[in-house]
Amino acid sequence: MSRTTVATIHLGALRHNLDRIKRMAAPAKVMAVVKADAYGHGLERVARALDGAADAFAVAAQGDGLRLRAAGHRQRIVVLSGPDRASDIPEMQRLQLDAAIHHESQLPWLAEASPTRGPLRVWLKVDSGMHRLGFAPDRVAEIHGQLSRMPGIDPEVGLLTHFSESEEFDGSETAAQIARFNEATEGLSGPRALSNSAGVLGWPDAKGDWVRTGGLLYGLSVVSGKTGADFGFRPAMTLSTRLIAINRVARGERIGYNGTWTCPEDMCVGVAAVGYGDGYPRSAAAGTPVLVGDRRVPIIGRVSMDLVTLDLRNAPDAQVGDRVLLWGPELPVEHIAAQAGTISYDLTCGMTRRVLFVEDES
Ligand SMILES: *Cc1c(COP(=O)(O)O)cnc(C)c1O
Repeated sequence: MSRTTVATIHLGALRHNLDRIKRMAAPAKVMAVVKADAYGHGLERVARALDGAADAFAVAAQGDGLRLRAAGHRQRIVVLSGPDRASDIPEMQRLQLDAAIHHESQLPWLAEASPTRGPLRVWLKVDSGMHRLGFAPDRVAEIHGQLSRMPGIDPEVGLLTHFSESEEFDGSETAAQIARFNEATEGLSGPRALSNSAGVLGWPDAKGDWVRTGGLLYGLSVVSGKTGADFGFRPAMTLSTRLIAINRVARGERIGYNGTWTCPEDMCVGVAAVGYGDGYPRSAAAGTPVLVGDRRVPIIGRVSMDLVTLDLRNAPDAQVGDRVLLWGPELPVEHIAAQAGTISYDLTCGMTRRVLFVEDES
């Protein structure tokens, strides 16, 4: 069966966004975060579009570092979750990947790192309050000293931390995290990297020497009520499909699984070829908008695996075969995410293999 759901990746938007991040973050350098298949946009595709412009790439797992090296990228690549086992160390040295060191259990593997394979570059992760990965602030100086003396480790040890709610620009937690990080790392040598995307937008004091931006690269915002476009970024993904049926349904009839939506009058119901099997969120509530041509129309009833149903009363000229836009520059994915009770990253990361990916230069 041929599928009609298409994710168009806008390479020009990716380049514009990185450029804008670089200007906002300067003089700090930029790690382009391309974990989770570049937030669903395609790792190799995004890395190719940004090659040369990004100071470094950041990935969650070593396997993504391997993919980037296999694609010929030569810049720094930081593995944010570090090595998972002793045998990762020689592989990271071979691939020249930077390792994030966040836990006691990784230290013996590092102590064994071979000095002849080329020094492994490491970043020491400080837990400044998120309580996910990282060393407690009072351990940082000691671990930094240990790492910088290990024979297989590059003595310039970087310092990382991660914010838990930097999108809350009025909150106090990020300022507290910055203060804890600064105190824990005071007097230690090595580059600092604190900010994620929301940190770049809202916390200019936390620029450090490097920023680690994912969301903004793809034009995505996690700031409540704001889209990436509100900050001058351009969405890098358009998700679209086609109308495959238009049916006349009588007043009082119920639409879709469990009949959760009842027609208030005789009306046209459109059926578009997209569903949660493509990554469109099943949790998108009735009323979530799509664009049919230039008409904004709401989803009615439940999102099913392959299909959604649409109230076409606002699009009387709609025809079978018309393009249906699910999100993109004209319909912010942040708004769709809000309707589905989640964030934009979750939606773009959720594209399944059934979706056809194409690229354009816009
Ligand atoms: C994912 C991630 C980032 C990027 O966060 P964005 O909000 O997408 O900019 C930065 N740092 C770490 C450690 C991460 O895991």
